[in-house]
Amino acid sequence: MNSNILQTPIDYLKGVGPNRADLLRKELGIHTYQDLINLFPNRYLDRTKYYKIKSLQRNNAEVQIIGQITRIQEVTQKRGKRLVATFQDDTGTMELVWFRGQKWIKENLKTNKPYVIFGKTNWYNGKFSMPHPDMELQETHEKNLRSSMQAIYPSTEKLSNKGITNRVMTKIMQQLFLETKGNFSETLNQKLLKDLNLIPKKEALFNAHFPKNQELLSRAQFRLKFEELFYIQLQLILKNLIHKSKIKGFPFKKVGNHFNTFFKDHLPFELTNAQKRVIKEIRNDLGSNAQMNRLLQGDVGSGKTIVALMSMFIAIDNGFQACLMAPTEILSVQHYNGLSEYCKSLNINIKLLTGSTKTSSRREIHESLENGELNILIGTHALLEDKVKFKNLGLAIIDEQHRFGVAQRSKLWKKNSSPPHILVMTATPIPRTLAMSVYGDLDISIIDELPPGRKSIKTVHRYDKNRLNVFKFIRDEIAKGRQVYIVYPLIQESSAMDYKDLMDGYESISRDFPMPEYQISIVHGKMKPADKDFEMQRFIKGETQIMVATTVIEVGVNVPNASVMIIESAERFGLSQLHQLRGRVGRGAEQSYCILMTSHKLSNDSKTRLETMVRTNDGFEIAEVDLKLRGPGDIMGTQQSGVLNLKIADIIKDKDILQHARHQAQQLLKLDPSLSHSENKVILETYRQLSKYKNIWNYIS
Ligand code: ADP
Ligand code: MG
Repeated sequence: MNSNILQTPIDYLKGVGPNRADLLRKELGIHTYQDLINLFPNRYLDRTKYYKIKSLQRNNAEVQIIGQITRIQEVTQKRGKRLVATFQDDTGTMELVWFRGQKWIKENLKTNKPYVIFGKTNWYNGKFSMPHPDMELQETHEKNLRSSMQAIYPSTEKLSNKGITNRVMTKIMQQLFLETKGNFSETLNQKLLKDLNLIPKKEALFNAHFPKNQELLSRAQFRLKFEELFYIQLQLILKNLIHKSKIKGFPFKKVGNHFNTFFKDHLPFELTNAQKRVIKEIRNDLGSNAQMNRLLQGDVGSGKTIVALMSMFIAIDNGFQACLMAPTEILSVQHYNGLSEYCKSLNINIKLLTGSTKTSSRREIHESLENGELNILIGTHALLEDKVKFKNLGLAIIDEQHRFGVAQRSKLWKKNSSPPHILVMTATPIPRTLAMSVYGDLDISIIDELPPGRKSIKTVHRYDKNRLNVFKFIRDEIAKGRQVYIVYPLIQESSAMDYKDLMDGYESISRDFPMPEYQISIVHGKMKPADKDFEMQRFIKGETQIMVATTVIEVGVNVPNASVMIIESAERFGLSQLHQLRGRVGRGAEQSYCILMTSHKLSNDSKTRLETMVRTNDGFEIAEVDLKLRGPGDIMGTQQSGVLNLKIADIIKDKDILQHARHQAQQLLKLDPSLSHSENKVILETYRQLSKYKNIWNYIS
């Protein structure tokens, strides 16, 4: 009913005007009344609580104090004038400071009258001071006090500099409720309101901004968070449903010769139960009429490659081609070598295409792809080039997908007249709650079991000064026939410092592990692909015992005989990177070790990361800690998914509500997939409104 008024530009609200509107747009993204009503407070201040000046702490928190101004004085300094007022209560004095708008303040402030001031205090020159306080005469303050809880709105430095203090924000918000009469239409249906005992929308909005009491505030927050998450889930699930019904896949009805022969005669090990389950899930998808869009999560070393291969067999058995794309040359080569070995006995034509493939063989590959002779193509993003055309690509697999951008993935998807089935594999586990919101429109398979016989990797943290002991340990392991990785951080490809560290490290290791007794490989990003490959191969073949490298080896490389991973300057790595690196060892039958080397200077976050690594090998547990440390922003996919633009819910803290919301959205769509029942009219309308005014999220699938 009043959705129209809610689209009114913010400039029209009384008390806003063009300047403030501009600030609100730029600083907080508030364009309309609707945006403003959805600007929810960060927190609430107990307005009945007053501090005494004597009891102020130097923690720079926001406080509310009652007192009087005894003196106002202009202080001239090099960079301009400021206005300083002495503020006093019955326990002491402090200063109030203004750098701007002094004239107005000087004319309007009254001395020796009780004021309530509110703001952050600074400790400066042996005194507390409060710059640009929010202040009000005590009598006005008490008259205005409708609730004991004061909303504190998100703000920016610019906003407070330009005088849009929290008090001003609150006034603007009051004006909004005045103009709209607080008469906001309901956006959930009766059933949800009743089943979940939710308060009506207008009551929720009012109490979120002007809480009458704690209980109503909690109920308001619950209702609004639920609603927000509910509509996101609704959108994700609907998208998935529409996708499944609209986009026809190639039904791979047969499980044929290649798959069966391989399974019976050539499988080098017994599949784990998790692998079996996941292959079954993929088989079901491929056999249905819908196009598969599946994310396969499995910790490093959990055996995703064989799952990929067997899925490709299904495509081939049904007369289609398949491809596997990996993020690095090294990894592509390794996949190619490994999979060619498996395919040898099966008469399958498999080729490798990377940036360094020679023109002549490139031409051959293009040809055999187009005439259908080639069954499997493995490679780097070279696969995405326009010249690479398939006769009938039926299945595209992307390994370690967090290395690829959305655009690259969607390009793969367009390689065929109608889209191939897509399987993306990742060893960076995403906590379930997040996966649910980010990939709500993908189906997810999880390998949650490592192949048998793996010993869990022993991880320790050592300081640089213990290096001699660490080197002795390396020597002992090499004497037992093992191989060792030593990894240096390379945070920026271009960083000269990092390369210097790497080369210095290499030199000192060469001194401590001299030839001919020891052979050392070195691999880093500035090397030519052919040289990299050469060094890598020497290590894989066991010709070198030590591999000194940057994080280029982070992803996927498989050398089962390597049992020690030394990570230099480990404090500089992120958790998921550390976990990935550690996953390079522990792939054989021997006990493996990971040693995290650091200096003594460690931030709290670094300490948490190191402790977590030492405590656990569980990728999901590590991902949860990572999520807590970094927030969801850095986790792949979140940028596209909109979970970061949440107005009130918090994807980590509100995961129970999220689960609730997802469940309710599923139930609703099960009964009424087209939202055509009359009782769901309000949901359909809200949903349409939301998709009209929000930028529609961009999913690859
Ligand atoms: P990731 O999931 O990290 O890609 P890989 O597919 O590279 O893991 O597998 C890691 C290692 O485990 C490989 O050497 C592979 O041959 C081996 N492997 C995979 N599955 C099994 C299994 N079921 N039993 C024993 N070894 C396995
Ligand atoms: Mg892998």
